Amino acid sequence: MTLLKAVKDDITTLRVDAIVNAAKPSLLGGGGVDGAIHNAAGRGLLEECRRLGGCPTGDAKVTSGYNLPARYVIHTVGPVWHGGSHGEAELLTSCYRRSLEIAAKMHLESIAFPAISTGVYGYPLLQAAGIAISTAQAFLEQSSSLQEVIFCCFSDGDFQVYNRLLSTRTT
Ligand code: ADP
Repeated sequence: MTLLKAVKDDITTLRVDAIVNAAKPSLLGGGGVDGAIHNAAGRGLLEECRRLGGCPTGDAKVTSGYNLPARYVIHTVGPVWHGGSHGEAELLTSCYRRSLEIAAKMHLESIAFPAISTGVYGYPLLQAAGIAISTAQAFLEQSSSLQEVIFCCFSDGDFQVYNRLLSTRTT
């Protein structure tokens, strides 16, 4: 059975098969978790990202993890929140699904997600966390190599929200 769990941590310190980056469409780095991942991974990550030629919103692309403890980084581009009626939920769902598909295709066993789109991109945390959990749960109903899906929270408040949602899920 795959474990879904929340941790409160800096995602750049996690020793998992893949961490997910909340990237910008250029994949050339930014602030927030993206900046932290590039800082910790080193120049090699930026060089590999340059060769990827960007990534559409809702999609994901994988690179090596370079100096990170994680073996791989899956870069996904979350939607900017524009009030909720501009396809934000579908795009955010797609970010989680595409990242999980890549991890499963690579036979990875553990993956850690930040709270995609909930920083500078402004997606309301409660709704975003609900999408994160329900999309992972639905994906894991198909069999895959994944044994651990971690939601890496950067604040106590986010950690509490994820834990509350995880403890009240139906299956
Ligand atoms: P976005 O542009 O997708 O909103 P941000 O990086 O601004 O991305 O924020 C996404 C989430 O990542 C926020 O909840 C933010 O607090 C969190 N975050 C920032 N740095 C880290 C980190 N080092 N580890 C884990 N989460 C982080």
